[in-house]
Amino acid sequence: MFPSVPAMSILDMLPGTTGRGSTQRESEVLLTLVASGLVGLSSWQGEVNLRRPYDDRLQLGLDRLAVACARTDSSTLPTGIADLVWEWCATKPMRDWPLVFDPDAEADGELLLVDGEPSEFCREWVRATPDVVGDVHESALVRQVKDVAKALGRPELYAHWRLELTRNTLLSPAELIRLKNRFLDAAPWAEWIDESYEPVPSEGMVDGQIAVCRGCRQWMTAERDASWKCPSWRCAQGRFADDPEFRSAQGAFRLRAELVRYIALPGLPELELAEALARLGARVVLYPGLDALDVVAIWPSGFAIGVDVKDWRNPYLLARSIKRFPEWTGAHPYAYSQGYIAVPTDRTRGKDRYLRILGRHSSALSTQPQLQAVTIDELISRCPDEGVRGEVTCGP
Ligand SMILES: [Zn+2]
Repeated sequence: MFPSVPAMSILDMLPGTTGRGSTQRESEVLLTLVASGLVGLSSWQGEVNLRRPYDDRLQLGLDRLAVACARTDSSTLPTGIADLVWEWCATKPMRDWPLVFDPDAEADGELLLVDGEPSEFCREWVRATPDVVGDVHESALVRQVKDVAKALGRPELYAHWRLELTRNTLLSPAELIRLKNRFLDAAPWAEWIDESYEPVPSEGMVDGQIAVCRGCRQWMTAERDASWKCPSWRCAQGRFADDPEFRSAQGAFRLRAELVRYIALPGLPELELAEALARLGARVVLYPGLDALDVVAIWPSGFAIGVDVKDWRNPYLLARSIKRFPEWTGAHPYAYSQGYIAVPTDRTRGKDRYLRILGRHSSALSTQPQLQAVTIDELISRCPDEGVRGEVTCGP
């Protein structure tokens, strides 16, 4: 038997895992424990503690891995948490673990740790099980801004905050003051901005400069060898890695790292889509209903769509994270007739099965006939072009 664990009752209710083979379910629980342990360590304590890792979830994952190794007669048992992290997670692709996954999960060649950090697969696995591991995924500040904006009856302030953070990764002192003074009638706004940015630390600059990635527009980390590392997996693996833009870091403020990850990076494709729809004549509202959707676009003719942008590499994991869309109809200011899950087009390039896997594993898609999953290019091609440029806004 597996040891009983405090989180067992929640883990047993992992979405999409009931009713299937128990080995597959055990495999998913084990992977969730290990992946969330890795993300938890890297989120809150940084690289130093990853070198001497300890986390309850890693210990629980290790216990279950020992059982799985025994069951499958695997020769090498992990000897401890450090071995689990630095041997198993960093060097063994999932096909070499004694685990069983749905073939659509396309887990075989994936590593959990790459270059000392949780991989994109690892992070997406954690994001796909938010009820289990919400504590490692959400920033306390995001929750606070959302709650206060709601209590003030000013949900648009939350949307403005996300928009400003997505647009501004580095600020000069004068720019920071201008941004803090943007909503003088909303007392907490200046404090939210203060808490979102920090002075560029000396280890974040080289010769008084800091690099900004040309791909994702975010500040980059100075490495020991004086090279620069982008915070986005997509850029780090792509063509933008070696050609940054430099800005003066003296006295400058940078967006806090957790907000780069949770707000600015996901916000980029959302903002690009919003601007593309505005060019087609729509009035585009960002994050309506305190983020119930990413975008509602309403054309003067009355045509209206609601969109969630989902920038995931793995469609099997994305499928688990799709939620019900809000039912806004009739006189509701954000009433829309068609809902879309919009995937950045490059995510599906060379992956014919992406949208099919997504459809096959998403109960939210199969139970909401007015909701469709498409690429962003396909979505734009389905929208009317009403000639006069619209606008991107944050409220009704
Ligand atoms: Zn980048």
